[in-house]
Amino acid sequence: MIRAALAAAAAADPRDVPVGAVVFDASGREIARASNAREALGDPTAHAEVLALRAAARVLGDGWRLEGATLAVTLEPCTMCAGALVLSRVRRLVFGAWEPKTGAVGSLWDVVRDRRLNHRPEVRGGVLEPECAAVLDAFFRSHRI
Ligand SMILES: [Zn+2]
Repeated sequence: MIRAALAAAAAADPRDVPVGAVVFDASGREIARASNAREALGDPTAHAEVLALRAAARVLGDGWRLEGATLAVTLEPCTMCAGALVLSRVRRLVFGAWEPKTGAVGSLWDVVRDRRLNHRPEVRGGVLEPECAAVLDAFFRSHRI
């Protein structure tokens, strides 16, 4: 699943930080994929996770709930995306690289496993972390002046 997310990251607009996200249904079939598109869309909320969740709901065409789904993303989600994951009722989150500066699934906060929430997705972080981190490192190295 993270390999699919890496492929989605590779398809990002060259101006955008290459983060990729893919949603799978309960049987493991890919439903939707997206990459971070904040620059391409001029939209501060166009993170890969949000775009993939929206696309998955459209594809399923069965309301807003993504129960049983898994979202795989190359980078630990931020607070917005962690909130979107809870709201969409995904069953499972798998992510690659940890994000110590903004991560909201264990690094700075742990939004998706907050016991005060009535829906808490399962989480597996650090999957293929070296590969996922390398994609981001290469992007930031090439964009440094
Ligand atoms: Zn985000």
